[in-house]
Amino acid sequence: MADQTQIDRLRLRDIAPQSLFIDGAWQPGAGGELDVVSPIDGATLTTLAVASATDVENAVASARRAFDDGCWSRQSPAARKKVLYAIADKIEAEALELAVLGVRDNGTEFNMAFKAEPGSAAGTFRYYAEALDKVAGEVAPTASDVLALVHRMPVGVVGAIVPWNFPLMIAAWKLAPALAMGNSVVLKPAESASLSLLRLAEICSECGLPDGVLNVVTGTGAETGATLAKSMGVDVLAFTGAGTTGRRLLEASAASNLKRCYLELGGKSPNIVFADAPDLAKAAKVSAMGIFRNSGQVCVAGSRLLVEASIHDEFVEALKAEAEALRVGDPLDLTTQVGAVNSEEQLRRNLSFVDMARAEGGRVLTGGNRILQDLGGSYMAPTIVTGVTPDTALFQREVFGPVLAVTKFETEEQALTLANATSFGLASAVWTADLSRAHRMVAGIRAGLVHVNTYGGSDNTVPLGGVGQSGNGHDKSLHALDKYVDLKTAWIQL
Ligand code: NAD
Repeated sequence: MADQTQIDRLRLRDIAPQSLFIDGAWQPGAGGELDVVSPIDGATLTTLAVASATDVENAVASARRAFDDGCWSRQSPAARKKVLYAIADKIEAEALELAVLGVRDNGTEFNMAFKAEPGSAAGTFRYYAEALDKVAGEVAPTASDVLALVHRMPVGVVGAIVPWNFPLMIAAWKLAPALAMGNSVVLKPAESASLSLLRLAEICSECGLPDGVLNVVTGTGAETGATLAKSMGVDVLAFTGAGTTGRRLLEASAASNLKRCYLELGGKSPNIVFADAPDLAKAAKVSAMGIFRNSGQVCVAGSRLLVEASIHDEFVEALKAEAEALRVGDPLDLTTQVGAVNSEEQLRRNLSFVDMARAEGGRVLTGGNRILQDLGGSYMAPTIVTGVTPDTALFQREVFGPVLAVTKFETEEQALTLANATSFGLASAVWTADLSRAHRMVAGIRAGLVHVNTYGGSDNTVPLGGVGQSGNGHDKSLHALDKYVDLKTAWIQL
């Protein structure tokens, strides 16, 4: 584990202006450059190259060439496995540097970033390295004069577009299974979280991934990302981000080559506390972290608290105490529990949701304001709004910030109706000591993930994905491999 002296030394490192990583080499971007501004203190850290449409198409062409020449796609599984293991080892060896670099860029509290970023990315590369030769094709049960084989073929070129909240972790969820199956990838990081992914590209190359198999194009979503989405050379798009962007990707697919689009989108996840929860004090503590960690910038954040009326006041008071006790501050200080909001734009958006909630009858119980202005960065107090009704913006729309909407319910049936009363369906939680009720809720809640008596557990072995407007397809687990293969039947007359 890191100590503060090491972190403080690394945070002062100069960061050179960044380039694009195409065909195994650093290349300038023809689209100009973007400043990288740290949300910790508002300082400009460096610049990113902006990939023009031509740069993006060059990256796609490089990925296609690498795919077609078989340097990776036709490598033996054992050879691919060795490279993916080496990448995992190198991420782990550089975990501290990667975590500090990422935090300077996106503002996540270090303790969480260290585990969730390099820690989890290394685990993901290792998981898919282990998995890649455990999945095989099929011999179909046809008539005896026919041999029908079902092959799992790599799709070709994968375009991966990722957000800023956990860049290494989420990129690894896409890169590792795509590479494991033999594909080439063009990765588009978010504008405000590209630095650790550019280093990851270099790490992959140093570990023996052939040139062109992984390319990284930085820049804006509207130009760089949109070009990748409509490229005729991309076979599959794997995306994590906002629903509005997801819709644009589907349009781009329809207007170009009908590439498959896997969309991991937002959520407005219900965290449901019944009066018979086994330990209300624990439920309050865990629920606070379920919404406030990483300043609420977590796709599965428990952003709607539904609480049984008989314990509402007591529970909400306990939660308020937990929220007010959280140490918000410089994310590179090891004692900080909640770091910075990713950008000024995101902070303004968060505050506008609080204003809307007030105007729509909600009561701000704690927080609701910007804090720590003397640090020069973007920080917001953990915020709880009570009396939030289903017809309001705070109930229906994802904030992606440290803002919890609280709604009372009287019965289990009402809790379920409220839980399912948004267009999202990503995560959820139920706190109850009644086993039958827990199972009824697991069955009834429309979401890809239901926690029982906890919030936030996860592992590479289980899928993560949503239903409804939280998206389609799953990251993680063996199921994710299916996104990066096409099935091909060989029908052989004997
Ligand atoms: P975003 O959609 O604005 O950006 C995500 C990525 O898409 C960035 O790389 C961006 O540059 C790119 N992009 C933006 N516009 C584009 C366009 N027109 N064409 C192509 N690419 C474009 O999302 P964000 O603000 O970075 O991330 C926050 C969102 O991500 C939230 O809604 C959050 O819930 C969601 N998220 C979901 C999951 C999940 O697993 N379901 C995980 C993390 C975050």
